[in-house]
Amino acid sequence: MSDYQKILVAIDLSEDSAMIFQRARSVAGSTAAELHLIHVIEPLSFAYGGDIPMDFSGIQDEIYQQASQQLERFAAANSVDSTHRHLVMGRPEVEIHALATELDADLIVVGSHGRHGLALLMGSTANGVVHGAKRDVLAVRVGGKD
Ligand code: AMP
Repeated sequence: MSDYQKILVAIDLSEDSAMIFQRARSVAGSTAAELHLIHVIEPLSFAYGGDIPMDFSGIQDEIYQQASQQLERFAAANSVDSTHRHLVMGRPEVEIHALATELDADLIVVGSHGRHGLALLMGSTANGVVHGAKRDVLAVRVGGKD
């Protein structure tokens, strides 16, 4: 089996992200793999759909700007250049798989849980990424004590 060449690290920008990235970096370090970062913004319409007749575009722009700045800061602090960071909108697991395919990544790294999955054994996104993955997935254990 050959070493990993390209690793896609998915971060929700919570405080666990640094630890998840460090773990990915140590895997990459031993194989000289290329590291890519992805953060996915979930459109508010996914949560509220047509239920609330409201125009979310202003809030959505604000969320996008905030996420963009946070991702930029995170990438700068971890020496990831702009061609290796990706900010996309959609459902996290769908977009993570889509980018992994586009980049032809051979490993996806996620946290075992994050914002959504705190009460679950394995976060909902981590589960979604593992499910149906066409490549290896490393779920870095974060947060919980057991
Ligand atoms: P969660 O499903 O919120 O428990 O998150 C589990 C893990 O999935 C996180 O530690 C991240 O690695 C990844 N993840 C969750 N949400 C996102 C997101 N919006 N963008 C990128 N990765 C995410």
